[in-house]
Amino acid sequence: MAQARHIIHVDMDAFYASVEKLDNPDLEGKPVIVGGDPEARGVVSAASYEARKYGVHSAMPMSQAIRLCPRAVVLPGRMDRYCEISEQIQAIFENYTSMVEPLSLDEAFLDVTGSLRLHGSAQDIGMAIKTRIRREIELTASVGFV
Ligand SMILES: [Mg+2]
Repeated sequence: MAQARHIIHVDMDAFYASVEKLDNPDLEGKPVIVGGDPEARGVVSAASYEARKYGVHSAMPMSQAIRLCPRAVVLPGRMDRYCEISEQIQAIFENYTSMVEPLSLDEAFLDVTGSLRLHGSAQDIGMAIKTRIRREIELTASVGFV
C-alpha cells in the first residue's frame, strides 16, 4: 500500500489587494479592489476584506463591484510586484519541501511527507509557514490540510 502523503494547501488572503495595502499604507482600512477596467468589461481579480463586506468577490464584473462598493479604491494591478512577492513566498516554502505545486501566484500545494522528521507534523509546518509569511512578508496566508 502506498504511504499516506501529507499535503498542505497554502492560500494568501486577498493576495493582490493585500500587496497593494502593504505597499501603500494610505489604503489601510479602505475597501480595495484590484481588477480590470469596468469600461472594458473587466472583472475583479482581488478584493480586500473591507470590499468583501459589500459582497464584492473575485471574478465579479468590475462594473457590478463598483455599484456594490462605490467608495472602493480601484486599482489595475501590478503583476510584476505580485510575481516578486510570490517568489518570496515560494522561497519560504522551499525551506520546508522541494515538492511544491503552485496553483497560481498566491496558492500552492506542498507535499511535506518527506519533511516530517525534520520539521514536525504537517500542522507544525503549516503554522511555521504562516508565521514566516506574516513576519517576513507582512501578509497573511490561510493554511489547510488535505
Ligand atoms: Mg488567495
